[in-house]
Amino acid sequence: MKSIAVIGGGVAGMEAAAKLSKMGFSVTLIEKTNQLGGKLNKWHALFPSRRPADEVLNGLKTRVQLGINILLNTEVEHIENDDDGFAIALNQNRMITAHAILLATGFDIFDAGKKEEYGHGIYDNVITSVELEKAFRSGAVKTLQGKTPKKIAFIHCVGSRDEKAGNPHCSKVCCVTGVKQAIELKEMIPDSEIYMFYLDLRMFGRHFEELYKEAQVKHHIQFIRGRLSEAFENQDHTVMIKIEDTLIARPLKMNVDLLVLLVGMQPSGSINKIIHDLELEKEKDGFLKQADKHLAPHKTNIPGVFVIGAASGPKTIEETVNEAGAVTFEIADYLQNKIATKILKNENSFI
Ligand SMILES: Cc1cc2nc3c(=O)[nH]c(=O)nc-3n(C[C@H](O)[C@H](O)[C@H](O)COP(=O)(O)OP(=O)(O)OC[C@H]3O[C@@H](n4cnc5c(N)ncnc54)[C@H](O)[C@@H]3O)c2cc1C
Ligand code: SF4
Repeated sequence: MKSIAVIGGGVAGMEAAAKLSKMGFSVTLIEKTNQLGGKLNKWHALFPSRRPADEVLNGLKTRVQLGINILLNTEVEHIENDDDGFAIALNQNRMITAHAILLATGFDIFDAGKKEEYGHGIYDNVITSVELEKAFRSGAVKTLQGKTPKKIAFIHCVGSRDEKAGNPHCSKVCCVTGVKQAIELKEMIPDSEIYMFYLDLRMFGRHFEELYKEAQVKHHIQFIRGRLSEAFENQDHTVMIKIEDTLIARPLKMNVDLLVLLVGMQPSGSINKIIHDLELEKEKDGFLKQADKHLAPHKTNIPGVFVIGAASGPKTIEETVNEAGAVTFEIADYLQNKIATKILKNENSFI
């Protein structure tokens, strides 16, 4: 039986492992943390439908229950590649072999502390969109002083589209995440005022535009084109923000109870060893390079090594699940061709 090692147990890895196992392959799913689900474990409700994230997570968990060798708290120490496939050394002196590898290692969340001028980790009431999701999951959004925030500002593109931060790319999902979170806040605190400071609004997906309209028309959330230059903490722990309004070219100052930084997606730092061992190519922005964006989007430059999900660039969950389905056929095709080539080689050696 042909074996496949799926590295990364987020949405991408779980869905692909389930499908590959159903197709009859022997699948090992390697996850470095103590749980499956990846970032989905952190989200409260998903854009654009606002479906509970746990509902999707539980759906994926049900699918990976049967026939898959799941290794949690497991990291790849070293990989060797020969004609037959891959020898993968894992922590705790374990070793597995596989005929193909699927990289589903996802992304890292931008560390907002790197933008010191925004005050995350310094001022009490500057939080990230990831921390806001955590607050939604807990059922209450409060300032650090325990007050209900009445004036809230969101800052778009934190750590994305930012050469200085090392991330020139657009993270794609943070605009719509911000709009979704603003609506959730407004529903939770109806007498709050909410301001979104954006550079461009990228409502690229189906039903995203409707969510944006709902934010403006139904909830009166204010969208202002402007860039945050600095944030300061006032004595009462509110945050004073200085914005350059890029439409009317005038500076703007505002005091808010809560400042939310919409942090982006960046390449995962935990796969450098794998990249090195397998001699994988990366894009200029650091995400894994697809062999051919149109004709072989899930292949890498190394035969037998495939990539899906946010490991090859910012993706939504829907896109990730679609890629997980598509890659299974590419892997099956690769393994079949390999068997055929081997039979041909053996036959030729008898001539
Ligand atoms: C703030 C925010 C909110 C979002 N909200 C939504 C939303 O509402 N709807 C939506 O569609 N999308 C949303 N997204 C995007 C969504 O999170 C991604 O589409 C999804 O997480 C991609 O899944 P993945 O499996 O590729 O990556 P991940 O979720 O990052 O999972 C990767 C997994 O691989 C593991 N891993 C990494 N390296 C290794 C290694 N070397 N060895 C073993 N395991 C490893 C990780 O521990 C993790 O479990 C949001 C993103 C952000 C930043
Ligand atoms: S999706 Fe929006 S907030 Fe995120 S990087 Fe792109 S433009 Fe900026």
